[in-house]
Amino acid sequence: MALYGGMCADQGRPSVRSKTYWNKNQRGADPFEMPKRVAKGIEACRSHMDEDGTVARPLRYIWIYVTEAGLLQNSKQSSSKDLLGLDGWLNVIDESASMGAEWMVVYVGASLSQVPYLWEVCAWAQDIHQLSVGLHLTSNCLSEDDLERLGRLVPEKTYLIADKAHLASLRFLESKGIRLCEANVQDMERDTHCTKPGEIACVGADGSLFSCGLVLGDERYAMGDCRDRSLDDVKNDESLPHAVPDTSAFPHSGCDACPPLMAMRVLENEAP
Ligand code: SF4
Repeated sequence: MALYGGMCADQGRPSVRSKTYWNKNQRGADPFEMPKRVAKGIEACRSHMDEDGTVARPLRYIWIYVTEAGLLQNSKQSSSKDLLGLDGWLNVIDESASMGAEWMVVYVGASLSQVPYLWEVCAWAQDIHQLSVGLHLTSNCLSEDDLERLGRLVPEKTYLIADKAHLASLRFLESKGIRLCEANVQDMERDTHCTKPGEIACVGADGSLFSCGLVLGDERYAMGDCRDRSLDDVKNDESLPHAVPDTSAFPHSGCDACPPLMAMRVLENEAP
């Protein structure tokens, strides 16, 4: 079976129309869960808009670390908090999308299959909120199941983000319609005083919020927990670190897969 050329809902690709997908993949879930979530999202959108319909403080990117591995890059101890489950991640997406997010980068670490609800999270972002989704994989290991599930996502809104060292061995995916994007960020590509965190909602596996992925797990850049405060509240709290004043104090590899840089790279690569 082709990965996705011409695939329709009854072949498995989840879509807004595919109620059975959500019912099947969330066994025993409330059948009204999706319409209720959509209504909640619309209401949230309204609450973030000014009277003229513009969003006061736009957020453009979501950067989520669905495994604890990301947090441990900058913090030696594993979190004592509960990890966000599927519902928690869908809430993050709903809230971010209501604030204007258009792009999402999902850090999964070495293996896509270690996160059982990864595909539901991606499908929700694409089907309900029309977000572009980049999956940041730190290996070149993909199972047949990974390929099949990648193929069910919306092709023109799906990117596999990988280190340069792995790109050559992943090029075969392009013939199946899967787009690739190099994750590595060079020193000259980032500003010394970086203000891009102001446009990013960066969320760790345990719900902790940080300025961006470069400083994920670094308490100096902690911004609370997405289960305790709304993202809107966090983004408008001027006392929090919405910028990284001196990126040179951190290795440039810490900026790998940064959503605004990846979005720019993709747009440049796809420019006619
Ligand atoms: S990861 Fe780097 S480039 Fe991206 S927002 Fe953070 S400091 Fe800036």
